Amino acid sequence: MQKIKYYPLIDCDSAGKEKTPLFFSDDEDTVRQSHGMYLQEIVPRFYRLCSVNRVSTANAKAYTIHCPLCRKGMTPISQPVDNYHLALYCCRNCHK
Ligand SMILES: [Zn+2]
Repeated sequence: MQKIKYYPLIDCDSAGKEKTPLFFSDDEDTVRQSHGMYLQEIVPRFYRLCSVNRVSTANAKAYTIHCPLCRKGMTPISQPVDNYHLALYCCRNCHK
């Protein structure tokens, strides 16, 4: 079975709307200790946006999450599950 990958997210603008992934880890606890938001990749190239702290749906929609592979902005393809497990994203550029 393939391991789940966790990509810590860092802000790349002063407003905190643009979020870029760092190199992945397979240890979710470590990622949660050092970063407030991260991407969870269970199915390859589909990324679930996760937050340690509560995020409103409106705030979550304002984020641009960048692709771990090509760094382009990704497209949300689902509604948030709850205020901690947010939309699932995929990258149109990597899914051509
Ligand atoms: Zn991509």
